[in-house]
Amino acid sequence: MNKEIPYKIYLDETELPNSWLNLRAFMTKKPAPLLNPKTLQPMTQEELSAIFCEELAKQEIDDTTKYIQIPKEVRDFYKMYRPAPLVRAYCLEKALGTPAHIYYKFEGNNTSGSHKLNSAIAQAYYAKEQGLQGVTTETGAGQWGTALSMACSYFGLDCNVYMVKVSYEQKPFRREVMRTYGAKVTPSPSQTTKVGRQILEEFPGTGGSLGCAISEAVEASQTKEGYRYALGSVLNQVLLHQSIIGMETKTALDKYGVKADMIIGCAGGGSNLGGLIAPFMAEQLEGKANYRFIAVEPASCPSLTRGKYAYDFCDTGRVCPLSKMYTLGSGFIPSASHAGGLRYHGMTSTLSELYDQGLMEARSVKQTEVFEAAEYFARVEGILPAPESAHAIKVAMDEAKKCKETGEKKTIVFGLTGTGYFDMYAYEKFHDGKMDDYIPTEEELQKGFDGIPKLQ
Ligand SMILES: *Cc1c(COP(=O)(O)O)cnc(C)c1O
Repeated sequence: MNKEIPYKIYLDETELPNSWLNLRAFMTKKPAPLLNPKTLQPMTQEELSAIFCEELAKQEIDDTTKYIQIPKEVRDFYKMYRPAPLVRAYCLEKALGTPAHIYYKFEGNNTSGSHKLNSAIAQAYYAKEQGLQGVTTETGAGQWGTALSMACSYFGLDCNVYMVKVSYEQKPFRREVMRTYGAKVTPSPSQTTKVGRQILEEFPGTGGSLGCAISEAVEASQTKEGYRYALGSVLNQVLLHQSIIGMETKTALDKYGVKADMIIGCAGGGSNLGGLIAPFMAEQLEGKANYRFIAVEPASCPSLTRGKYAYDFCDTGRVCPLSKMYTLGSGFIPSASHAGGLRYHGMTSTLSELYDQGLMEARSVKQTEVFEAAEYFARVEGILPAPESAHAIKVAMDEAKKCKETGEKKTIVFGLTGTGYFDMYAYEKFHDGKMDDYIPTEEELQKGFDGIPKLQ
């Protein structure tokens, strides 16, 4: 018999996981390794250590250790905003009139406003441990830059953020949050790097892109003594750190004897979803459970649903290692959708491999229907969601409506990755009926595919 389930399942500090879960260690067929773009050989730990901190380079290639201990300093920081609540969406269930049980894991309960802080603090910690002076990174909409700024200020590290120029100009508040935490924010492309100057010469007046900003941040980390590069998604190390989301979720559900039927999350680079599903997928891979996993992506940037599974570059400047992933091509520039955190051309290799093996489903959704779901959710559940998170809300609501038709009492769990206070410009467009639903044509996608390197 189930205990009465509260609106919010809070865990206490002692229930905060001691280890992260390394999902790749549970996979029989492993995700493909990163390749050195020059030699096309798998990146070694030594090579990766030139880009990332040593400990992170080690985590990046480790696909055998199932659990990796969370350092005490990181766990202490987590305690300031974790364990995050798992919310039973009673109000949403009632409003939809569905027999389904809906739960969401809320990651917006910190100043950065998203799950990104979970990895930022780990990356900053390892940089500090190594005695580095600082880290460089890029940010698009600004969530990752904010998270890393917070983490660096906590450990007394320099944080240099290359922020996509259009965002730098359109999102002055995010920029100022980063500066509040002591980060140096540079609009990208900039004159401060070789690759930035090249891009500016070729495309004067460009507003920049995430791919360009990555190239600049990597170059800056390579040319400055005592610096390494930090990335907010896509990498194995980031999925590892984000497994805290799923582990807490599972502990909370287990406590009340609840078994999920499906687990849904938005997928940009794939780290939040990879983290949310980690312990559940691990169980499934061990043959102990059977869940449905659904990745939700924007129809404007459909890497899983319409992309190719191939080795590709992670950045526009093609300086980063090659990753085997579902990709739209590193030259693909998604339309200016408002879910900035989901505008990435590829998908993390772990989720790509799981999807390829048929262990995960994917859906793409249109921007206006995402905002309809976001607004509905805000009015019913109170939380104002980030546009990215609303992708998961949309599909969770769709599934709950299906249950209403069939009378099935499914248990739906989804990830609510963050809040949308800095996205009110997007909400304004939606309210004014000025939001479009751009979907790339086959020809446009083909142009991106043409840029995928042909290995062998
Ligand atoms: C960055 C971001 C995402 C995308 O996360 P991935 O882990 O890259 O898939 C989703 N939601 C919010 C609020 C974000 O800031």
